[in-house]
Amino acid sequence: MKTELSQKLFEKANDLFPGGVNSPVRAFKGVGGTPRFIARAKGSHIVDVDGNDYVDYVLSWGPMIVGHCHPEVMRAVQDAMKEGSSFGAPSPREILLAELVRERMPWVEKMRFVSSGTEATTSAIRVARGFTGRDDIVKFDGCYHGAGDPLLVKAGSGVETLGLPDSPGVPADVARHTLTAPYNDLPALEKVFEAKGASIAAVILEPVVGNMGVLVPRPGFLQGVHDLCKKHGALFIVDEVMTGFRLSSGGACGLYGLRPDLVTFGKVIGAGLPVGAFGGRRDVMDRVAPAGPIYQAGTLSGNPMAMAAGHAALKLMTEAAYRKLETLSAALADGLSAAAAEAKVPVQVNRVGSMLTVFFSHKPVFDAATARACNTRRFGAFFHAMLEHGAYLPPSQFEAAFLSTAHTDDDVARTVAAARVAFAEAA
Ligand code: PLP
Repeated sequence: MKTELSQKLFEKANDLFPGGVNSPVRAFKGVGGTPRFIARAKGSHIVDVDGNDYVDYVLSWGPMIVGHCHPEVMRAVQDAMKEGSSFGAPSPREILLAELVRERMPWVEKMRFVSSGTEATTSAIRVARGFTGRDDIVKFDGCYHGAGDPLLVKAGSGVETLGLPDSPGVPADVARHTLTAPYNDLPALEKVFEAKGASIAAVILEPVVGNMGVLVPRPGFLQGVHDLCKKHGALFIVDEVMTGFRLSSGGACGLYGLRPDLVTFGKVIGAGLPVGAFGGRRDVMDRVAPAGPIYQAGTLSGNPMAMAAGHAALKLMTEAAYRKLETLSAALADGLSAAAAEAKVPVQVNRVGSMLTVFFSHKPVFDAATARACNTRRFGAFFHAMLEHGAYLPPSQFEAAFLSTAHTDDDVARTVAAARVAFAEAA
């Protein structure tokens, strides 16, 4: 496979950006080798600057649920752009998207749009602290909630890929207010509440973890977390930046029957443009400025092009679209499991809806510790063999692969055929 142009650009980029990239996992540090510079994308495929074509399972880390360059999303963005790209004043498209969100997720009684998932989660934490008058928060080991100070503690995703336990630059005084517990372990969370219950403002979690690779919540775990929050007067924040509008039209909360106090969104809600949102209980959101005293603001928040992109994409996500995603994703997961079994490579394929990870492990993977124990060297070999055969997976064991409604049976068949070769090479 030709990679000369990607290599040349990476050399230039290394002189311009830290590690040659504008977000860490893009650098292929978890798997080695040269990251591919992408020239263009369409539907379920991306093409790099050397002309290599891949079936894309990164999908910009999740947002492209209807595929790249969907004509209806492009038309909506172009229409909005013709009317002006940003006003810094209220505009009708904000209402259209918000009404659609609330129609599908009635527990989001009021919301605010921001421009990234990080802004959504850090704002939600501030709101929870302001509302409860408490300073501590709880997160789970391996859950990633963006790059904001209070949440960069035992974070997954790039932090895990690079082997950084936490980040220098986050003041110890901030980090000490972030308590942690293992994911899927209610008794451990109970202990945290017993010790510090009166000072805990909120528990935040990824309802299905994507940022440690996919970890599936055990039956009763999510509701158990909510019950503990209620008992101790803490808010339950479900971070749906990855799962929102991906796992179902009601996100993970819809899938698991949760009624959280606050929810955060990103990725799919902007269909590839920079959007995030946080929202939830009316009485909590009414404490946000200017309705209340808890300050939060953004120059580009509610940007009309981003609102138009999100609205067009969500409209396309009908129940039939979710059914299609489920069928394709199940076929891919089954095909990957069968290919691994044929090559006698022990793997665990964790999947919920259109999020999945192939873990190189003999044993079930259900929390950060069991994910860390996986064979990342084997994952690296598998990743590169898949890339050579035209499947672009996330370049880290600790990330989720995604499917879109643009993926086809043919894409899945091509990927499973590639996996047969890749598992044999990684064996
Ligand atoms: N929360 C979750 C669950 C995420 O997966 C991410 C990003 O991957 C974020 C928050 C942060 O979103 P952003 O990268 O848009 O700031």
